[in-house]
Amino acid sequence: MIRDARVVVLGHVDHGKSTLIGRLLFDTGSLPAARIDEVVASSRRRGLQTEWSFALDALQDERDQSVTIDTTRVWFRLGERRFAIIDAPGHEEFLANAMTGASDADAAILVVDAERGVEDQTRRHIYLLGLLSVPHVVVAVNKIDAVADPARIAAAGEAARTALEAVGVTVNAIVPVSARDGDNVATRSARTPWFGGPALTELLGAMVPRAESAEREPLRIWVQDVYRRVGERVVAGTVRSGRVAVGDVLFVSPSAKPVRVAALRAWPRDMASAGPGDAVGVVFETPVYVDRGDLLSHDTDVPVTVRSLQVRACWFDREPPHADETVRLRAGSADVAARIVAILDATDPRTLQPAEHGVASRGMVYSLALRTAVPVALDENERCAIARRGLPIAAAHAVTLQPQGANVFAASHLVDATARAHRNGHRGLVLWLTGLPAAGKTTIGMRAEQELFRRGYQVYALDGDTLRTGLSSDVDFSEEGRRENIRRVAEVGKLLADAGTIAIISLVSPSAADRARARAIVGEPFREAYVAASVATCEARDPKHLYKRARAGEITGFTGVDAPYDIPAEPDLVLDTERYDADACVAKAVEYVADAVRITASAASISRSV
Ligand code: GDP
Repeated sequence: MIRDARVVVLGHVDHGKSTLIGRLLFDTGSLPAARIDEVVASSRRRGLQTEWSFALDALQDERDQSVTIDTTRVWFRLGERRFAIIDAPGHEEFLANAMTGASDADAAILVVDAERGVEDQTRRHIYLLGLLSVPHVVVAVNKIDAVADPARIAAAGEAARTALEAVGVTVNAIVPVSARDGDNVATRSARTPWFGGPALTELLGAMVPRAESAEREPLRIWVQDVYRRVGERVVAGTVRSGRVAVGDVLFVSPSAKPVRVAALRAWPRDMASAGPGDAVGVVFETPVYVDRGDLLSHDTDVPVTVRSLQVRACWFDREPPHADETVRLRAGSADVAARIVAILDATDPRTLQPAEHGVASRGMVYSLALRTAVPVALDENERCAIARRGLPIAAAHAVTLQPQGANVFAASHLVDATARAHRNGHRGLVLWLTGLPAAGKTTIGMRAEQELFRRGYQVYALDGDTLRTGLSSDVDFSEEGRRENIRRVAEVGKLLADAGTIAIISLVSPSAADRARARAIVGEPFREAYVAASVATCEARDPKHLYKRARAGEITGFTGVDAPYDIPAEPDLVLDTERYDADACVAKAVEYVADAVRITASAASISRSV
């Protein structure tokens, strides 16, 4: 399906934005004959060469009287695709729209006058582009008819490129154009033999708009609503990116639960799969608690669950942000209370000067450190809005996400992690021992616990399988049961670490994805230790005769025999029980833990500040 694309045209006043837009409309045959006549006639009347910017004036008049044309857009067509020109009259309106996603641009054309080069407003627009994430950015060096020296034209383009790159924007192309004469706009110009590149419309025609590339991105569905329909719970949302199909295992964030899709309800009929823009009602195979504001993804590519994050916010309220103030953070369908922990910096995009944030806050761009009251699932660069007293007052991007960690309960507890760490003399930790059955996990876990305890640490060893007799007695050994067991063990580990204890967890946990989820649940205090030994060695040890029974077919799905084990790619610690004896491995684990839980000055101040 061919989708519309949106283009925003930016640049310093008088560098030729309107002329370029008019020229694009004319050259792509998007102006009706009557409008062309009007433009030519009014140009003549004023003794001018054809002024293509007048095409926009005429459109503006119509728009003001809101007659036939789309009231918000100017369109041109390239082949099958329609391109909407997004108006960027003032930076504030543009930013507000762009940052909230109301006018997601697929491409930006930055117009730079060949003679005058990068000027004030060019710089401001470059800064704005740095705040957004426009996938395709083209620099149009305009008015080349008026500049004889190609080196000068190139220099204007390069100056713009350098400035754009400085704010993290990649330039797709620099095109020398004459908007007035049409050089390199819709046709390659004979005037620029030194420029081999494509004309502007060729570049635009070749790009893939967001809506089309969204399908290749990770699956994201923001949950809008959950309702009951003839005996089933339907989770309603719109696919923002990626594709979902019946039978997929989805992951519900922030509650961190995997669940399989049984059906995709839609009207007039159910779907087998759904892609970007599709509104779907997801029905899960097993009941799972889902709520508005949750984010659905595949279990292989999950968003980050955070309570601490940094956002870059363009502020539209007269009243500036205040440290310690509680606002609402809205992202997708999530709407959560968030405290402004710190105002990290403030810039006035009109002057590009650091702003004093007590004064004139409208239009300022602030970097804010936020802490949400409850966990929220986000992706980096997620668009958010900040609301105060029920009204949105800032458009923001999540720039840094701090995965939910040990301090997750800090806001509600009156005892914080630092206080606990000081009382205990060390921080909490989860040492996750993974490895084949009989690799030595439990032996190392129990002995490391004993040694750490002897040295005065708060420590507790948990054998993942013993939890199955209690907390996880209701889950089976299927793939999903196993995953659920791991999730519960990880949650228990997190609680222990939060409480300031060193939790040593021994669990085969063969799947790398499951371990990654455990890490996501526990957060910062998670350490993965790979207890390494070959299948042959483990089988030779076989203290519980499990390998023997698996080989005999009495147990199926036994890790190492007929079920795979994903060797950790980047474990925090390797304990090789094949090469070293138990004493050496225990000593190594104990030293590692002692080092990891040591209170450092920076760790103490970090946990105090959240
Ligand atoms: P905007 O403020 O960026 O929209 O700029 P305009 O499109 O209104 O153009 C400003 C002035 O530059 C007008 O007088 C145009 O005629 C002139 N101009 C625009 N493009 C060109 C060009 O390619 N060559 C020359 N010589 N003049 C141009």
